[in-house]
Amino acid sequence: MTTPRFKRILLKLSGEVLMGEGGLAISPEITARVAQEIADVRAKGYELCVVVGGGNIFRGLSAAAKGIERATADYMGMLATVMNALAVQNALEQIGVDTRVQSAIPMSSVCEPFIRRRAERHLEKGRVVIFAAGVGSPFFTTDSGAALRAAEMKCDALFKGTSVDGVYDADPKKVPTATRYETVSYSKVLSDDLKVMDASAIALCRDNNIPIVVFNIREHGNFGAVLSGEGVSTIVQNTGA
Ligand code: UDP
Repeated sequence: MTTPRFKRILLKLSGEVLMGEGGLAISPEITARVAQEIADVRAKGYELCVVVGGGNIFRGLSAAAKGIERATADYMGMLATVMNALAVQNALEQIGVDTRVQSAIPMSSVCEPFIRRRAERHLEKGRVVIFAAGVGSPFFTTDSGAALRAAEMKCDALFKGTSVDGVYDADPKKVPTATRYETVSYSKVLSDDLKVMDASAIALCRDNNIPIVVFNIREHGNFGAVLSGEGVSTIVQNTGA
């Protein structure tokens, strides 16, 4: 199985990817490293959309469990994603990559609002477009935001950059015999509740036939390697295991 060649891709970065030692929410060093991975891929001519999560700063569900009203907690979570988006933007611009941040919650002094046609123009001009605030509504996640933007922006694939190298049939930290899938179908991910993205995001990708590539973005050079069909990853798509 070789990775199909893609032209326009959406990279979903979980907030946790930006975390540093000792619970530091946004590590400048790690953010710079992730930015370099993005810059290297951009330099190869790919069109890049990025969706960032906020779990390193604030998660609506956990805050709701501690007594904050769920919708309010989710709005706080969405604001956290804007902070991460600005951190990624800053790191990219410092190494000469042109970027724009578009937020699903308008905040005109901080970034652009999400306007699909404008985002399209940015991509045509070679800018990396970073989408913040998920879908802009509570009770969703940035995984759903990533699937939605990937569909709207007609991305060829959704790359989920995490700190593990793919999707396993069991938790590799607990089960030594756990094996990584090379490829797996959307329906198996849903029926076996495999931890890839939440169910609504998987369903949206399935309905729009967008492959999901799960890979480790913390490993140097891996993003580019996976894109060119090398490197270690799992592809979730229609013809799966
Ligand atoms: N969130 C939301 N709607 C969205 C996207 C995010 O309400 O469309 C909130 C939700 O509370 C979530 C938080 O923002 O917990 C941070 O996003 P997420 O958990 O998806 O971040 P990640 O796990 O990718 O770091």
